[in-house]
Amino acid sequence: MTVLNGLAPIPMVDLQAQRRRLEPALSESLARVLAHGRFVLGPEVEELELRLADLTGASCVTCGNGTDALELLLWALGIGPGDAVVLPAFTFAAAAEAVVRRGATPVFADVEEASCNLSAPSARQALAWINRSALRARALIAVDLYGWPADYTGLAAVAEERGLALVADAAQSLGATLGNRPVGALAPVTATSFYPSKPLGCYGDGGAVFALDPAMAERVRLLARHGQGPGRYNHVSLGANSRLDTLQAAVLLAKLSVFEEELARRDQVARRYDTGLAGAVTLPLRPAGATPAWAQYTIRHPERERLARSLAEAGIASAVHYPRPVNLQPAYRACPSPDGVPVSRRLAETVLSLPLCPYLAPEAQDRVIAAIRANA
Ligand SMILES: *Cc1c(COP(=O)(O)O)cnc(C)c1O
Repeated sequence: MTVLNGLAPIPMVDLQAQRRRLEPALSESLARVLAHGRFVLGPEVEELELRLADLTGASCVTCGNGTDALELLLWALGIGPGDAVVLPAFTFAAAAEAVVRRGATPVFADVEEASCNLSAPSARQALAWINRSALRARALIAVDLYGWPADYTGLAAVAEERGLALVADAAQSLGATLGNRPVGALAPVTATSFYPSKPLGCYGDGGAVFALDPAMAERVRLLARHGQGPGRYNHVSLGANSRLDTLQAAVLLAKLSVFEEELARRDQVARRYDTGLAGAVTLPLRPAGATPAWAQYTIRHPERERLARSLAEAGIASAVHYPRPVNLQPAYRACPSPDGVPVSRRLAETVLSLPLCPYLAPEAQDRVIAAIRANA
């Protein structure tokens, strides 16, 4: 490790600290997989799906990654050409990508300034635009940005009013709750990701779908397993190959044993930032009735680039999630964004995510706080 003025650099996420904590159990469970050799859809995959169903109260099907999870859900919902899907402009591109891959049209709605998430009024505005177009509105995708659940009560009301599917992109929020209900059960269908830096991450790519209706989960399972079923080599539908490796399931089972405690630690870290940074920068909102998964601790500052540079000079990592609304990305410029998404544009210029993981030491965190206070 390079050392700066005698101080170790502070990364966004310290996966090695978590690994040190989980050894030797982690290596033992990987060794068990190497020994039994069922590398694809081995017993650990089924065990993980049952554990995740327990955690969320919804049926769970694992798959290759979070983007596949979103696409499999849209596929299972029968969304395709001529269909419009409303989704927030200020997020990672995966949701829009999944919509376009199904042949449907993403219609970008703006996000709410305080929560950075899609709101019911903004979804309604996008739907009004769709009504005047040749497209047929089919679904809303809510993204729980930074690990905070979106307003599922408000969005479910809009979905019900218009007969739309409500899909949760919970890639950043697994482990969070809203009104005492866990993510995975907040919308009829939910997609999540086990990308290494997510709150529950594996050592590679991985994802899962949650569905309140077990029949929906089975539909996704069929699509993700080459359209086979019942039984092998019985292809009843066009499908795809999207599976979570058994080795990754073993990693996730080991990490699940400390997940609850890690979520509490993440919240402790976030609270220390809240206190230390109050008054210096705009802090993330804590939506009422929700407990967060804190995938990111994201502040706002009008001179975000200068702040990031001074952090870098002090050996402190930071990241911008995300520097451009998705509708302004070259690949999505042709997709409609009826109101021009002014809030998303402003957020893209001011947000800055700070180092946060369950193992961030208070002393390291105080260095982050001091560096920001000195430069904000
Ligand atoms: C990470 C992420 C995804 C995609 O997950 P992958 O597993 O990387 O495909 C989708 N949506 C959001 C909001 C994400 O943060």
